[in-house]
Amino acid sequence: MGPECQFVFEHYNDYISGELDEHQSMRIERHLEQCSKCELFLGKYSALHIKTVKLLRVSAPSSLKSSISELMAEI
Ligand SMILES: [Zn+2]
Repeated sequence: MGPECQFVFEHYNDYISGELDEHQSMRIERHLEQCSKCELFLGKYSALHIKTVKLLRVSAPSSLKSSISELMAEI
């Protein structure tokens, strides 16, 4: 995982929630244009995230983070 992938991985939650500042959002968007792995990951995650928020209305538990790591490894 490169440093930009790491950045995306650490900040996707705030990015999807719209809580990142403009500079950070742009950094993620720029990277997504160049990295199909992260683009695919965020596509999958945002669908999962929206479902989770709708069903549970809680922030992602730490157990979800480990399942996301497994998801990353599969891509
Ligand atoms: Zn990436």
